Amino acid sequence: MEYVQESSRRIPVRGEYDVIVCGSGPSGVSAVLRAARLGAKTVLIEQNGCLGGMWTAGLLGWIIDHRKPESSLLSELKTELAKRGPAGSPPCSGSFAFEPESMKLLLEELCRAAGVKVRLYTMAAGVLRRPDGALAGVITESASGREAWRGKVFVDATGDGNLGALAGCSFEAGDPERGLLQPMSMFALLTGVRLAEIAPFVNGYTPRAQAVGNLHDLLTANGAEPSYHDASLFALSGELFLLMANHECGVSGSDADDLTGAVMCARREIHRQVEALRRSGPAWKQLTIAATSERIGVREGRRLKGLYRISLQDLISGRSQPDAVCRVAAGIDVHALTPSFERGFDRYPYKVQPYEIPLRALISADVPNLVFTGRCISGDFFAHASYRVTGNMVPLGEAAGVLAALAARENLPAALVPYAQVKAAL
Ligand SMILES: Cc1cc2nc3c(=O)[nH]c(=O)nc-3n(C[C@H](O)[C@H](O)[C@H](O)COP(=O)(O)OP(=O)(O)OC[C@H]3O[C@@H](n4cnc5c(N)ncnc54)[C@H](O)[C@@H]3O)c2cc1C
Repeated sequence: MEYVQESSRRIPVRGEYDVIVCGSGPSGVSAVLRAARLGAKTVLIEQNGCLGGMWTAGLLGWIIDHRKPESSLLSELKTELAKRGPAGSPPCSGSFAFEPESMKLLLEELCRAAGVKVRLYTMAAGVLRRPDGALAGVITESASGREAWRGKVFVDATGDGNLGALAGCSFEAGDPERGLLQPMSMFALLTGVRLAEIAPFVNGYTPRAQAVGNLHDLLTANGAEPSYHDASLFALSGELFLLMANHECGVSGSDADDLTGAVMCARREIHRQVEALRRSGPAWKQLTIAATSERIGVREGRRLKGLYRISLQDLISGRSQPDAVCRVAAGIDVHALTPSFERGFDRYPYKVQPYEIPLRALISADVPNLVFTGRCISGDFFAHASYRVTGNMVPLGEAAGVLAALAARENLPAALVPYAQVKAAL
């Protein structure tokens, strides 16, 4: 590859903050809210045009593993969503469904009320360092050009561990044998059909195995066999549905060409699938795509190196932790690593017991004032395939935000903030 040398330039400093959170997915927004509510001066930097990550830009209105006594914020979000529109647990599902548009507005309101400085359409693109190796700031790119943001403590909530990578942190990615990443999938919001007429195809209203079998057969019979064998339709309300029916294998969320190719391929497949369903009978005739997601869903990216690495053994033994911040009930969910997996899943013979995530898995082993949250925390391939669902992302974010706020207040490396103080503030 050919390279050019960029000349150095002066960059305006946009502000100084106690806590800088990069990425506003379920975990980042939880982190910034908890840090701000503890009195920290905070900024939330997000590359999309809305807060919420997969919940909003990804259109994922479906929270798995959402019963969390340890998370006051998750209860607050669910209660607020239920007040504002259709939201709750469908009869055949343990998950929580909501409309992504309600979540967008709610998160903006909560950040405004907490005094968080929000910066949308802004991508963390570099870091500034102190002489001791700690981070001094983040450099961003946006419509305002290149800018610098100084901070005391930093939270990587980018999902893919982008801030950690910019900071030179060690990381792992992919499955242990071949380094293959789980496939991406794009969500679409559908409308124009009635739940009562299509319930046999809808997860949550028909048991999952039966619903996905029915949908697969219907798509296949109408000439659109889905690339994700267990294509799924979820009801977010009586009139709004969520479709997940494609797999994009062998692509990485850290490669812009891969992302572009995957998005275009997935969107084309969704349109074909919807056309096929429209042909399938009167109940589907008015089926309409309300939106395909702006961001394709990236299941897996970097897993940054923390002071503790959650392992498959922890899941199998249901390990408790002395510094627990989240109890996970979700099982291991590995989607087809290559297109040849007939059922759309790679099956592993591991039985998971509920286990705990320690605060140490959120603290960088490489950079003293860097905390991680979300799917980029420190864990192995199988552990990540379990804890990544959004019911866990909120309590992890809360813990990261509280830890970052306390570290900034006490002027301490994250690793030296006593767990008891974090626990008390949570
Ligand atoms: C296809 C798919 C289906 C899923 N199904 C479910 C499900 O049914 N239920 C469930 O609970 N979970 C599900 N999950 C898992 C869940 O959505 C994710 O694991 C979860 O959203 C991770 O949360 P996060 O906060 O770490 O990251 P994300 O939600 O990915 O958010 C990361 C945010 O960081 C931003 N960002 C990234 N880089 C930068 C940067 N450099 N600068 C600024 N901003 C940046 C992104 O724009 C994004 O908003 C699914 C995931 C996928 C991909």
